[in-house]
Amino acid sequence: MSAIFTFDNSYARDLEGLYLPWTGAKAPAPQVLRVNEALALELGNDPGTLRSAESAAFLTGTTAPEGAAPLAMAYAGHQFGGFSPQLGDGRALLLGEVIDRKGKRRDIHLKGSGRTPFSRGGDGKAHLGPVLREFLIGEAMHALGVPTTRALAASLTGEMVWREGGKPGAVLARVASSHLRVGTFQFFAARGETDRLRQLANYAISRHFPDLKGANDRYLQLLSRVSEAQARLVAQWVNLGFVHGVMNTDNVAISGETIDYGPCAFIDAYDPKAVFSSIDRNGRYAYGNQPNIAQWNLARFAESLLDLIDPKDSDAAIAKATEVLSHFPHHYQAEWLKGVRAKLGLMKDLPGDLDLANDLLALMAESRSDFTQTFRSLSDAARESEAAFRDRFLDLSKIDRWLDRYAERSSLEDIPATKRTATMDRVNPIYIPRNHKVEEALEAAERGEMAPFDRLLAAITSPFEAQKGLEAYAEPAPDDFGPYTTYCGT
Ligand code: AMP
Ligand code: MG
Repeated sequence: MSAIFTFDNSYARDLEGLYLPWTGAKAPAPQVLRVNEALALELGNDPGTLRSAESAAFLTGTTAPEGAAPLAMAYAGHQFGGFSPQLGDGRALLLGEVIDRKGKRRDIHLKGSGRTPFSRGGDGKAHLGPVLREFLIGEAMHALGVPTTRALAASLTGEMVWREGGKPGAVLARVASSHLRVGTFQFFAARGETDRLRQLANYAISRHFPDLKGANDRYLQLLSRVSEAQARLVAQWVNLGFVHGVMNTDNVAISGETIDYGPCAFIDAYDPKAVFSSIDRNGRYAYGNQPNIAQWNLARFAESLLDLIDPKDSDAAIAKATEVLSHFPHHYQAEWLKGVRAKLGLMKDLPGDLDLANDLLALMAESRSDFTQTFRSLSDAARESEAAFRDRFLDLSKIDRWLDRYAERSSLEDIPATKRTATMDRVNPIYIPRNHKVEEALEAAERGEMAPFDRLLAAITSPFEAQKGLEAYAEPAPDDFGPYTTYCGT
């Protein structure tokens, strides 16, 4: 049988000393539960091969596939503002890298594959619920056009893991354009290992920003590029109502992909203060605080790069890095406004647009309007009837005044209304992973019933097209669902 993947492991090859070679724990009864066929194809895999018994063994970390060089990555991180000098892959392994059909290098990584030297007190395991949650939310984000790591497969290990009761153990195989995080840089900066830090930064540049290779100020530009990528990413999150929930620096990918779906959730009622994570008591990672936290995280990234930015003059390095970071709010605002304009179907960039958008959001906050449905119904308002949109607001006279302003602003667009509404429908989803539907899917999966997971996955992977029979997936949670709480450390 030919190899399952053709690995080419640059991290293992080029960055010796920045990781620990390691192997997964043996799963007693590996079983592949779900495979992402489309992604497998992108990676050059023959459809079906990931369902073989041999694949079940490698997708759980039980054996290493031919050509892999499994390793645990070292990283540090600020968690809720406090620095942990050593986190690392405590329950994960980087198997290696594959060049996909488009020539792009992608990591293949396992999460839940057993203890490593970075496990601290943890058991190195994951259980089915969080594995499937990451599968669902990552695929939803991808379908919504947000850069993200993606699930390749979810597999059962055949053993129970202990999480307030026994739960089915599982492993997520995921694909990322890399697993380099802000925390990876912090790990070596905190230890004063400048040579390794430089090696890491050069590697990150050649992998993600190859046009910077050879530039004299490449480390400063690395900061600038990562900052721009984060501004774009977080603006997309905010424009979709996504709350990451645990924006620790070890969960900030240099690539600009969303990574580590733990206590994440989508808002239903629009509320800038929305928090879902059980441990985020002060709202550090609240929906509306995400741009501020992104900037804070980038400041930590900047600190870790100072010795590279100007090895001889730390004051000069700080001044240069501060200057780069000072552009973040502007970049974020520009990205966010570009996104909101698209949601409103406004192609031109006109002076009153920011106020128009903010005034709508203020009315939505006042009425606790469903974020997703309100935006989607705006194109209906433009198309046929305003009723579905107006119904989402408590004060009709206020929303009518807003609609008048919106109509006036829309009339300044050059393209026909039908074209505008069609573009709006391509950015305002019908389906997001609604919290109550995610819970329903995960609870059923734990009982061995996968149909609700499959239905939800079908809805959210075609988020912009109405699908017959899936109407319920477009609705917010019923009142009796109550406030939603998500959990970390799963
Ligand atoms: P996360 O909250 O998933 O971003 O993980 C933060 C850190 O905790 C990382 O270093 C993980 O590898 C580690 N970690 C999380 N869960 C476990 C576990 N069950 N066993 C060992 N390490 C874990
Ligand atoms: Mg993490």
